Amino acid sequence: MLQNPVPWPQGARCAVAFTFDMDADSILHLAHHTSADTRVAALSMLRYGPEVAVPRLVDLYAQFGMRQTFFLPAWCMERYPAAVEVILKGGHEIAHHGYLHEHPNACEPEEEASWFRRASEVIARMTGQRPRGFRAPSYRFSRSTLDLLIQEGLRYDASLMGDDVPYLLANDRGQVIELPTHYAMDDWPHFMASRDLGYLMPPKSPQQAMEVYQAEFEAMWEYGGLWIAVWHPFLSGRLARCVMMARLIESMHRKGQVWFAPLEEIAAHVQRVMAEGTWTPRIDRLPYYDGPIPELGLAAPTLAR
Ligand SMILES: [Zn+2]
Repeated sequence: MLQNPVPWPQGARCAVAFTFDMDADSILHLAHHTSADTRVAALSMLRYGPEVAVPRLVDLYAQFGMRQTFFLPAWCMERYPAAVEVILKGGHEIAHHGYLHEHPNACEPEEEASWFRRASEVIARMTGQRPRGFRAPSYRFSRSTLDLLIQEGLRYDASLMGDDVPYLLANDRGQVIELPTHYAMDDWPHFMASRDLGYLMPPKSPQQAMEVYQAEFEAMWEYGGLWIAVWHPFLSGRLARCVMMARLIESMHRKGQVWFAPLEEIAAHVQRVMAEGTWTPRIDRLPYYDGPIPELGLAAPTLAR
């Protein structure tokens, strides 16, 4: 099924990373700049992430002896330093997720770079290390993002969805390792509901969501893939979902031959097997397009009305 499975460490069948995007209320300020402060219930739902869920998640992963990657908009780090401290104390990686969850593909390249650098400085100051990895807020990777990641010396990106195993993003200036995921592995479509943010989907039961994650895991285990969850503490850190999460982790441990690692370690492993010549990744050259495709021309707006 997989053309190019990765030789995972210790003969593991697959690699697994539960990654957490701690967006807190950055997304509300971004969506409602002038009225976020008046939307108190939405603020409380989002603040549940740093205040309640993060300490719970760090405890849970300590019980399993597992370390994870937490993607934090740097503004959230400045706003919720206690959560940062708990994450670092737990031995987890903190990775780059923009400054205020701004969308890179809605920015001019200089504007994107300026927010990006501002966030990197906060991460360096508060964690003692420059970021190794990046996930574009809301997956809004831009046509300039790869250049920025290369310039700023990041080792990996975790925003894209182009494979079941790691691959390389390359352009004429360099390359970065992509650690891909996809929407089925994101908790947003399963659990997100917020009138203030415009999501009115009926939340799934934790069991239904876990069925999806479990099916993804079984396939990755069978064929040697990479299982990366994209979960938000304010959604998946709620109590009933955490109970199911613990059961899922237990079932993965029972199954065995799984390599659990934060993304920086997965990227380091990929670099190692590439350097040894024991594995060669597929390469995606970016950008995919320099602009709108010319074939449709001016007809485009009328063809899909
Ligand atoms: Zn996010």
